[in-house]
Amino acid sequence: MTQKADIKWSELRFSYIECDYRFISVYKDGKWDEGELSQGHHISIHQGSTSIHYGQQCFEGMKAYTTKEGKIVLFRPDRNAARIRNSCENLLMAVYPEEKFIEAVKKVVKANERFVPPYGSGASLYIRPYMIGVGENVGVRPAPEYIFGIFVTPVGPYFKGGLTPCHFVTSKYDRAAPRGTGGIKVGGNYAASLLAHKEAVDAGFADCIYLDPATHTNIEEVGAANFFGITPDNTFITPKSPSILPSITKYSLMHIAENSLGMKVVEKEIPVSSLDQFSEAGACGTAAVITPVGSITHEGKKYAFYGEGNEVGPVTKKLYETLTSIQCGDLKGPDGWVVEI
Ligand SMILES: *Cc1c(COP(=O)(O)O)cnc(C)c1O
Repeated sequence: MTQKADIKWSELRFSYIECDYRFISVYKDGKWDEGELSQGHHISIHQGSTSIHYGQQCFEGMKAYTTKEGKIVLFRPDRNAARIRNSCENLLMAVYPEEKFIEAVKKVVKANERFVPPYGSGASLYIRPYMIGVGENVGVRPAPEYIFGIFVTPVGPYFKGGLTPCHFVTSKYDRAAPRGTGGIKVGGNYAASLLAHKEAVDAGFADCIYLDPATHTNIEEVGAANFFGITPDNTFITPKSPSILPSITKYSLMHIAENSLGMKVVEKEIPVSSLDQFSEAGACGTAAVITPVGSITHEGKKYAFYGEGNEVGPVTKKLYETLTSIQCGDLKGPDGWVVEI
């Protein structure tokens, strides 16, 4: 058993803490090198790199947890491997093979074992794989070379004192085009979201809600998280749109809702005008797992959910408890969800 790093796990936030190793692999002359664990926190790339000028880059976000028995586990890494492959294919980037992706993630987590927060701390090791187009270039074309890297950093639970409802406002901006890059995890969508986020925060909200970019009538995403609503007749409803980023957390919650909680699960358009149908609402993604949505304000009208928007509903709580218990190994999930390192 490695000696753990001297970190106050319970005080961790979502910020960068230097760990010992990162993984780096370079694609050059049509092939990937072996990849290596390296120390240091910077990379040096050509100033003409397509990732700098033309946004040819993508990334992933995942977490490692320590189980009660002291094992380190990943949650559905095959889904991240498949998603980054899809992102790379969409941006005409080199693809890092899926099995090698999982191997590299395991390797870098293992190498930084002393930074994986202990069981019960509520904290976890955040893992950030990324792919960038690099190499000498000026024109708009796919890069001649690529760097695939992974860094890790321990992060605290998103909500320190337990789940707390947050309040949101719809945005007049779009994070992606109707048939654009919304469905792939690329930095460009995030650059496009910074102003919308700032305006929502300046107006006193936790974040903004994006409406579907084609008609601006349906709920699309909650900041950088997917949306779901719960109806009083026990149905889990989540928006369907090609410009939504397919959240692994959401598909996991849908599985739990249907198979563990016996709920009906539906993916369909959710017009803002139909928000009154929900008794509970939430946002989901790797960072917070679930953020309870207390209310959504749209064109001056406020739609509040459980407990007039001030409480966390029982279904949201149950979904959160079930998924987080599976992730840290307390509860057995479907085969293949929890992968030991
Ligand atoms: C990453 C991401 C999510 C959440 O996906 P998870 O796989 O659940 O972490 C949701 N929306 C956007 C825009 C994202 O980039």
